[in-house]
Amino acid sequence: MSLHEIRDQETAVRFVRNILRANRIPNGLLFYGPGGVGKGLTAVELAKAINCEKQDGDACDACLACRKVTNGNHPDITYLSPSEKTRLIKKDDIDGINELAALRPFESQWRIFIIQDADRMNPPAQNHFLKTLEEPPGKSLFILLTEFPRVLLPTIRSRCQQVRFRALRQETVADLLRRERDLPEELAESLAGIAEGQMTRALDLVDSEKRNVVLSLTSRLAEGEDPVELAEEFTKFLAEERKQLEDHLKATMAYDSADEVSRADMERLKEERLAQLAAMSKRDMLEYLYLLQTWYRDEMIFAVTRDRSRVWNKDQFERLESGEGANPSEKLQAIETARMYLDRFINEERVFRDLFLTLAVSP
Ligand SMILES: [Zn+2]
Repeated sequence: MSLHEIRDQETAVRFVRNILRANRIPNGLLFYGPGGVGKGLTAVELAKAINCEKQDGDACDACLACRKVTNGNHPDITYLSPSEKTRLIKKDDIDGINELAALRPFESQWRIFIIQDADRMNPPAQNHFLKTLEEPPGKSLFILLTEFPRVLLPTIRSRCQQVRFRALRQETVADLLRRERDLPEELAESLAGIAEGQMTRALDLVDSEKRNVVLSLTSRLAEGEDPVELAEEFTKFLAEERKQLEDHLKATMAYDSADEVSRADMERLKEERLAQLAAMSKRDMLEYLYLLQTWYRDEMIFAVTRDRSRVWNKDQFERLESGEGANPSEKLQAIETARMYLDRFINEERVFRDLFLTLAVSP
């Protein structure tokens, strides 16, 4: 693989190719954008191109240096990602990087560090890393990858050239899902459509229970279960999910008090972390509403057109054909209303109770 094979990221790829062509390699690059759209791949291919023996603006993919990068054993390219246990990047990890960066590259021109989920650096690690970025030793390039650039100190961001990555095309996601997860054609296409061009979101739909939760909710509502009880159950479930997310993010704020972080930086990062929590839990909740919406949208479209190709939930034809739903447009309207209320932080349980009462309406 090489840079010209990266899919759907024309702007980002053009940017890195310009850097290569002009031979103006910066010390810091910040690749940001939605998950699973090619940030990591681009970083690896850029690292390959920089150290390629042919030096012609892209990786040749054949020389010894390129092959070493592909096999993950090039001595001048270092990957850093959050520890599996704590899901954090800590000051010690940065120490390791600093030591390496102080050495001359073993066999190429540049020493390259690819930092995955850079937003998982806790405050002391960020502070420590900043010093390295401010006085980068020799030819060192740090490529930071993140979905949440704002969780990084502004001083880190400003020392990096920032490169934005965008969502992928639907066909690309479907193709990748088929290849990576061996999904049947119809399911891959359904999920690619639902995931709006974000591979991580598509994979989350494959791996998480979100879609099953929603499919089960719609079917229980159609079978006449009590909507008020269902709303209560669902709100509890959401609260539980949020609690897990919160515990998880709290862990990223834990640090050793001996670490030097200014109070102001600490406060600021705490605020950003809270904003991140709010954004993530809202994203989850909206994802549930969105999945509900795809279901009733399909009911409506299928009832009117009987056209299978226009349906997103292609693996659910049996249910769609049974015509269990009534008044889908009224239901879609109710979902819009719920979204608006949740946006205004109106009591969640009440919003879902009203919503489920409408979704339960039978002819
Ligand atoms: Zn090469």
